[in-house]
Amino acid sequence: MQAVVISGPFQMLLESQATPEPSPGEVLVSVRAAGICAGDLYIYQGKNPYAHYPVIAGHEVAGIAERTGEGVTNVTPGTPVVVEPFIGCGTCYPCRIGKSNCCVQLQIIGVHRPGGFAEYLTAPAPNIHPIPEGLSFSDASFAEPVAIGVQACRRGNVRAGEYVLVLGCGPIGLALIEVARHRGARVIAADVQSSRLAIARQLGAEAVPADDQLLPTLLGHTNGEGAAVVIDATGNVKAMEQTVDLVASGGRIVIVGLVKRGIGVTFPGLDFTRKEMTILGSRASVNCFPESLQLLVSGAVRYPKIATEFDLTEAPRIFAQIVENPGQVHKGLLVPKVERAGS
Ligand SMILES: [Zn+2]
Ligand SMILES: [Zn+2]
Repeated sequence: MQAVVISGPFQMLLESQATPEPSPGEVLVSVRAAGICAGDLYIYQGKNPYAHYPVIAGHEVAGIAERTGEGVTNVTPGTPVVVEPFIGCGTCYPCRIGKSNCCVQLQIIGVHRPGGFAEYLTAPAPNIHPIPEGLSFSDASFAEPVAIGVQACRRGNVRAGEYVLVLGCGPIGLALIEVARHRGARVIAADVQSSRLAIARQLGAEAVPADDQLLPTLLGHTNGEGAAVVIDATGNVKAMEQTVDLVASGGRIVIVGLVKRGIGVTFPGLDFTRKEMTILGSRASVNCFPESLQLLVSGAVRYPKIATEFDLTEAPRIFAQIVENPGQVHKGLLVPKVERAGS
């Protein structure tokens, strides 16, 4: 099979490799679409501390279940599927309480084991979800980023009629906007880039610039109360620190964006009690894929339409280009050429 191998920072090559065999309990998936995510770019740039080179990245994967290993009963070969990339150990405290997304030994397909930037990959059978009829492979590959939006809205208990402020309108921010809107929330979205705000507006959010007037602008939109839920999807320390001012008294803050290890985020302590706010972390997703796929097939989540497809063979050029000019491609998908000819 053809595979895109990252052998070190900024070293990416297309290689011919033996097609993997599914071990007992695993499924071999023939890849039809794999999303390029910030996480993949971090591996490419040498910024992901968990990645060991060489690695095949790609954790937003849709394809066809090709073959099953011994003992697999929940997957029929020939079925269109998406691959949930997180594998918990099943025995640690978070795994025991149903939060395998924060397993202390979390394994991620496309980080710790080979991912979807190849013609084939293998995954444990419980990580395989059938694609609902009517959903294309490209759109289905968004199940993973949309699941992050589902998880964050569950964490923040986003409810109908409430104001929800989404900070950051990258791919995850856009997923958050649409999931929150589907829950009936009144969504305000902020970003520093006007091109991103334009997309947020198309998806039905009230789009506002994330400038030094953000707080008065938000108060103007929310009867002076602030947002019931503020969700950070920027990973920017200043933005995270501002959530305390932007949230309404009694409200919830959900932090989805990642800061680098060792970087502190400071909150004024008195506001915790004064506002009785709840600050929640939200990591990846757990048990969110079925809801995510339903949101995609029902048309409630439309932002995958902004994606651009590229041949798998073009990956080295595309990655170099995206790193050089991050605004150029809002969301890229890698599609194996052989497969595209037949679809
Ligand atoms: Zn991702
Ligand atoms: Zn665990």
